[in-house]
Amino acid sequence: MAADLHTHTTASDGTLAPEELVRRAAELGLDAVGITDHDTMAGLPEAEEAGRRSGIAVVPGVELSTDATGREVHILGYYCRADAEPLASLLAAMRAGREERVERILAALARAGVSLTREDVLAAAAGEAQRPESLGRPHVARALVQHGYAESVADAFARFLVPGKPGYVPRPKLHPADAVRCVRAAGGAAVLAHPGLVGDDSILTELLAAGLQGLEVWYPDHTPEQLQRYLRLCEDLGLIPTGGSDFHGRGERWAELGQVTAPSEVVERLAAAAQA
Ligand code: AMP
Ligand code: ZN
Ligand code: FE
Ligand code: FE
Repeated sequence: MAADLHTHTTASDGTLAPEELVRRAAELGLDAVGITDHDTMAGLPEAEEAGRRSGIAVVPGVELSTDATGREVHILGYYCRADAEPLASLLAAMRAGREERVERILAALARAGVSLTREDVLAAAAGEAQRPESLGRPHVARALVQHGYAESVADAFARFLVPGKPGYVPRPKLHPADAVRCVRAAGGAAVLAHPGLVGDDSILTELLAAGLQGLEVWYPDHTPEQLQRYLRLCEDLGLIPTGGSDFHGRGERWAELGQVTAPSEVVERLAAAAQA
């Protein structure tokens, strides 16, 4: 009885359309699949429709990119009302910031002798069916590969898109506690994503005060020791342990769909937390 509660579709930087991702999750025999695109809920109607057709529970979600003390912190929101304010405006502003950031990345790359246009980025993004709602560095990375500037997406990141490299441009800053408050105000359950990648448990105090309800315990990059530690933290702090693969599609450096899961009773706990 398993639920993969962390996946990305073509609405952001995944490579499978929501419909196809959900259909595959059903074929794998998962009980539930969570759709958690970066800074957008645009893939959810299609995913939920596919869930009804293929008989798998679709958990609506979103992953918000935030920063605290120089570290990247991702907040997962489950069962948020898509039209609730201020979340809807916040997500729209984050996406607008991402659009503008692509322009700045392309300008920075041009100064480094890389000639790539916005059209190139969108064309690379849409080997996929529709234009992504939420643009990110992976879309630029795919264009760099297509145009011969890098051998792979990982190579494109390493050479151009990470801090210290010529095409690195930070995102506009949002504090994770503000993201947690927005998720809660939209009727959602707020979860700290992949705490092992954050690497600083001290932010939990502030996030708990803001209304954090869960911690992503089962995650591909977590060591067995981290898994045990986060599970114990959940018990001690009364947080819901969640988990998932962070699947982005095939041919990427990512885990496979369903490779990492949470027990499916977590879904009911998240739904109850969302109503709280
Ligand atoms: P962004 O949200 O635009 O800053 O892009 C972050 C996304 O890029 C992550 O969610 C991953 O999907 C992807 N990513 C980050 N680092 C790497 C890397 N080193 N190689 C490949 N993909 C990466
Ligand atoms: Zn991503
Ligand atoms: Fe993340
Ligand atoms: Fe993710």
